[in-house]
Amino acid sequence: MNRIMTVKKVIGIPRAISYYGNYPFYYGYFNALNIEIILSDKTTTDIINKGVEKVVSDTCLPIKVYVGHVLNLLEKGCDTIFVPSLQSSAFKINNCSKIRGLPEIIRNVINKSFIMIEPTIDITEGISFKDFCYDIANEFEIYDENVINNAIKKGWEVYNNFNKMTNSGVNYEIALKNAIDGNIIQKSIEVVKPLSVVIMAHGYNLFDERISMRLIKKLDKMGVKSYTALDVKKEDALNSIREIGEIQYWANELDLTGTAAYYMLNNKVDGIIALSAFGCGPDSLMVDEIQYHAKEKGMPMIHLTIDEHTGEAGFVTRIEAFVDMLMRKKRKALEKNNIVEIPQKTVKLDRTLTTV
Ligand code: SF4
Repeated sequence: MNRIMTVKKVIGIPRAISYYGNYPFYYGYFNALNIEIILSDKTTTDIINKGVEKVVSDTCLPIKVYVGHVLNLLEKGCDTIFVPSLQSSAFKINNCSKIRGLPEIIRNVINKSFIMIEPTIDITEGISFKDFCYDIANEFEIYDENVINNAIKKGWEVYNNFNKMTNSGVNYEIALKNAIDGNIIQKSIEVVKPLSVVIMAHGYNLFDERISMRLIKKLDKMGVKSYTALDVKKEDALNSIREIGEIQYWANELDLTGTAAYYMLNNKVDGIIALSAFGCGPDSLMVDEIQYHAKEKGMPMIHLTIDEHTGEAGFVTRIEAFVDMLMRKKRKALEKNNIVEIPQKTVKLDRTLTTV
């Protein structure tokens, strides 16, 4: 740890990378330890640009965004920032080198004095999640095992409640807000849409609305229901990877290969949208795998890559073209089976269907 100033019981959490999967746990855990959380602002063009200025151009967009969020916390006067090193999440199930080396990246590109809380989790090397949590608490001079164990329990409580809600179809933002407020809600109304797709993407790309350009909301307006990793239980995603004859190597693979495979195998969607960052090695391998299986199954798929230069107009055009193609395909299949009544236009669909 780069200890330059006195540790206060305040921690800054960049709203990027592991925030999107783990914040419910972090929230329960830090609150139980009486450590106040300061979050960076939601991603803006300014945050992206500040991150972009600090790193070499071929760094992937999520890491540029992460750097921008650390700078945002520093601008807010937060001098203790959480930058975990998430090496492996299970034995030989690894994160990419940039996520593994996040503390090193931040140390080398941000030339400012601040305290970095940089615990490691590396199951392959025997550094457990419990070690990770103890390491954080010890940095704040909290050593009482009962207190730390209780905080871990609280973290899991919030995390499990969040997962229960998302698995039942509650969307990311609503589930997060309710989990943090200590509520559990169930989705009450399921609106049937003419089309449905599965989006294979990292949470930090998909649920950051600036990065994904509100992809889920755009699809919703086009009459397309989106399924994501949040709708799939982890064991189902893992089983689906095995069922298509692949093996899990990357820590985030359940969100991508596992989620896409689950919906493809169950024939639950009309198409697959892969959303990934330009230049991401792991994603290109996972997308290739799914493309291969989608082709075999005749499942339409589009791969959208994003970087800081991606323009919204071109992005929307590609989505609209894909959705139009899905609608034509579905209409043909329905007509073949003498089932009629499907909207003529896919874009601007705001009615719902109960018959398809
Ligand atoms: S998995 Fe890909 S997008 Fe994510 S941090 Fe690593 S290189 Fe970047």
